[in-house]
Amino acid sequence: MSFQIAVMPGDGIGPEVVEAAVRVLLKIGEIYETSFSFKTHLIGGAALKAHGVPLPQETLDAAMQSDAVLLGAVGAPEFDGNPPELKPETALLQLRKELGAFANLRPVFLHPPLVEASALKPEIVEGVDILIVRELTGGLYFGTPRGVEANAATNTMRYSTEEIQRIANVAFRAARKRRKKLHSIDKANVLEVSQLWRKVVRQTASDYPDVELHHMYVDNCAMQLIANPRQFDVIVTENLFGDILSDEAAMLTGSIGMLPSASIGGRAGLYEPVHGSAPDIAGKDIANPLAAIASAAMLLRYSLELDDAAASIDRAIAASLDAGYRTADIYRGQGRLAGTTEMTTQVISRLTRA
Ligand code: NAD
Repeated sequence: MSFQIAVMPGDGIGPEVVEAAVRVLLKIGEIYETSFSFKTHLIGGAALKAHGVPLPQETLDAAMQSDAVLLGAVGAPEFDGNPPELKPETALLQLRKELGAFANLRPVFLHPPLVEASALKPEIVEGVDILIVRELTGGLYFGTPRGVEANAATNTMRYSTEEIQRIANVAFRAARKRRKKLHSIDKANVLEVSQLWRKVVRQTASDYPDVELHHMYVDNCAMQLIANPRQFDVIVTENLFGDILSDEAAMLTGSIGMLPSASIGGRAGLYEPVHGSAPDIAGKDIANPLAAIASAAMLLRYSLELDDAAASIDRAIAASLDAGYRTADIYRGQGRLAGTTEMTTQVISRLTRA
């Protein structure tokens, strides 16, 4: 078996953490006798410097023709003053939209040895294991009309029944493979679009009688994530609510450097760490590569259906943390401080066939 992976390192620490993920995948290829073909493409600030655009056509074509896309991060301070179409971050929105990747999956899992690294008390966060399913190509970020007038500005939150149904199906199917509990988050006490959201999710639930469905208002969910995060298994929500709630939930795990993501449902899956390009630590070999490595595990699971190989990576990450290895962002004075390269080597040395 051979798979074509489009690799987009991007900016800042992007190239460092993507290199780590590729090293891990190469080893997985050896262990599971699978061959990956990696081709590297420019995106974000790196593409702006070389070609004057954040998402060159060549990069987009490569993404469309690949089995999956592995991305680092985009963004560099030198482009902060650019107009929107010439900002590195625009490349990501375009890429997700062009791929049709409408479902963003963000697992929020607290590794037991990192309980002390969380901002919350151990008795609240211990055992947290949540999957956030965020709708990614609709809602307020894309709805029309939008624009600026002399003394006002407009954005529109719009969802069709079909858009809600397809994201609800992704969430129900994910819940079925986990603890069979789904929270649908909305603002149905105020917004018509949320009332439709709630109605369609409820209708979709009839196809999944084995999954327990709860509806919760977004303001309450923001509070419950801090007060009692263990009550959640899978959360499904629209684009803006999901953006905010998933960043909030990220803090439960101790560091943004731990969180992977998958954007699926389109032509090819897009896999990237949740963190940005972190220019403050770029080029120093201190970035945490685990979010990128865990994103590679999601790539194997969701795009290539290599569940055993994905589980092997997840186990190796857990075992490296159990052995005490910590990058600076999760180091709390105990264990062995490791750089990006060393942490990756530790994970690779623990990859085994189940
Ligand atoms: P950031 O995630 O890059 O960094 C926030 C903080 O977390 C920084 O202190 C950074 O050092 C730390 N950090 C991030 N990833 C880390 C890792 N793997 N290991 C250790 N520490 C890590 O967010 P920011 O500073 O707000 O943004 C920097 C740039 O990245 C901006 O240009 C922004 O637009 C861009 N950005 C890109 C993405 C993306 O590509 N998906 C996401 C968020 C931000």
